[in-house]
Amino acid sequence: MRKKYICGNWKMNKTSSEALEFAKKMNNLEFRNVDVLIAPSFVTLESLRKNVKSEIKVAAQNVSEFDNGAYTGEVSTNMLKDIQVEDVIIGHSERRGIFSEDDNIISSKVKKALGDELSVILCVGEPLEVKEKNEELSFVKEELLNSLKGIENLGNITIAYEPIWAIGTGKTCSQEDAEKMCSEIRKIIDKNYGEISKKIRILYGGSVKPSNAKEILSMENIDGVLVGGASLNADDFIEIIKCGESL
Ligand code: PEP
Repeated sequence: MRKKYICGNWKMNKTSSEALEFAKKMNNLEFRNVDVLIAPSFVTLESLRKNVKSEIKVAAQNVSEFDNGAYTGEVSTNMLKDIQVEDVIIGHSERRGIFSEDDNIISSKVKKALGDELSVILCVGEPLEVKEKNEELSFVKEELLNSLKGIENLGNITIAYEPIWAIGTGKTCSQEDAEKMCSEIRKIIDKNYGEISKKIRILYGGSVKPSNAKEILSMENIDGVLVGGASLNADDFIEIIKCGESL
């Protein structure tokens, strides 16, 4: 039985003081059936980690593939671990698209993070032009396997299927289509990595909100959600967590 995983990606939003206001609301919550994660900006990680209850994971939105050195603007795995951050999102479509991170860079980052005992949420998903040609399955398969190149153990990985055309657009993938892709991803993992496919969590992301979270979360192969916009509002994010709790 895979526990539902409710993850919020704040992207480049919220100052540290805004994050602490959010943490106060989250700290009143009790949850038993779900795991919860929040990914704030780098500068907010340490204070959020210290001020939000320990059951809530606090994740980085990115990490360097290098150890240390002359990489201006980058943050290393050691720096994250030093402030008790143990999770990281890698391969978000905004990193791939705006910051030109290709599958080679992504797989190096995944390898580095796993090697340094961080848990990884690896994002994959097709752009609109691929969806319009009905080629999303082969696109996601290639992106997934390339992003995992050289990685043998998926024990500390969660996959997030995020169709790019549904991110921040208000357009959600139907729960049936999201389920179909998540089930295909599980089959690809089964074929290439075996038994871990039954345990690995596969999330859906793309315009998830309180009004559609329950139907998405109730699908068999969708083990959680990665939420952007709706995770910025504590009441909305709490509603989404409650949807997971109620299943
Ligand atoms: C995301 O950033 O991963 C995301 C899914 O954003 P949104 O929920 O705003 O579509």
